[in-house]
Amino acid sequence: MSERKNVFLYYIPSDELEPKIQQLKTVGKKQGFKLVDNMEDANIIASIGGDGAFLQALRKTGFREDCLYVGINNKRLGFYTDFDLDKLERIEEGLQSDMVEVLRYPTLEVTVDGIQTFHCLNECSIRSNIIKTFAIDVYIDDIHFETFRGDGMVVSTPTGSTAYNKSLRGAIVDPRLRSMQLNEIASINNNEYRTLGSPLLLSSSRELVLKIVQDGNDHPIIAVDNEALGIRHSHEVSIKVSEKVIKTIKLKDNSFIHKVKRSFLQ
Ligand code: NAD
Repeated sequence: MSERKNVFLYYIPSDELEPKIQQLKTVGKKQGFKLVDNMEDANIIASIGGDGAFLQALRKTGFREDCLYVGINNKRLGFYTDFDLDKLERIEEGLQSDMVEVLRYPTLEVTVDGIQTFHCLNECSIRSNIIKTFAIDVYIDDIHFETFRGDGMVVSTPTGSTAYNKSLRGAIVDPRLRSMQLNEIASINNNEYRTLGSPLLLSSSRELVLKIVQDGNDHPIIAVDNEALGIRHSHEVSIKVSEKVIKTIKLKDNSFIHKVKRSFLQ
């Protein structure tokens, strides 16, 4: 943290936020940080807002490995937002550095039709964009594993395991395990269609390929984190654990275990 001083603030301006941002800027300057207007000049990227804002900041700045990402929440703490805009003294404490740790979060690399590659920190989801179900042939390391029919599938990272994946009754995965989890959205299981029916945790050495069966409902929505890709006619989505990790900082008393407890058990 000490050698990183150029900060880019990512937020959606509003009248409510502006006075708080000014106070934050004052604290930053006092601690020797410089605010930059271009994200390219930054080595710290701070999002202000919820987890959704943090995910957007990553996407808009291209999942940079040479930057530290910091999430600052303006309402309540999230999974990626360790700092609270209303507790400036805590941010100031964090900026002085021995109270914070750098964490490295695994991401997923998603390639559509062998051409376009995207990254995600929470999950990649493929969902029907109409009322009809659609089918996906699932391949793991080139082995045909199952044919899914239903509303869609979600492949999540460990940190994304507490998001959409959890609503689908997936397991919560410790981010220290580089892995990805395949989960179903309302699969049909009868004499015609058969899927595993439970979440599947795969190691970082596996490659997952989801081939959209071209049988009439061939244009599902593909989304990476909270953004739908504008790709309408995709046939094949391949997903693996990326070499790219996102560096973020957290306060020492706010581990993954603290966050899971705080969010789901209190
Ligand atoms: P947001 O900040 O409004 O997020 C929505 C909620 O999801 C918030 O409560 C947020 O704290 C929580 N969240 C986001 N990432 C999380 C994580 N990794 N662990 C635990 N909670 C997390 O912003 P948004 O743009 O709506 O969020 C995008 C995320 O919402 C997607 O990446 C997806 O995981 C999730 N999502 C969930 C469902 C569902 O549970 N049915 C459906 C669609 C999307």
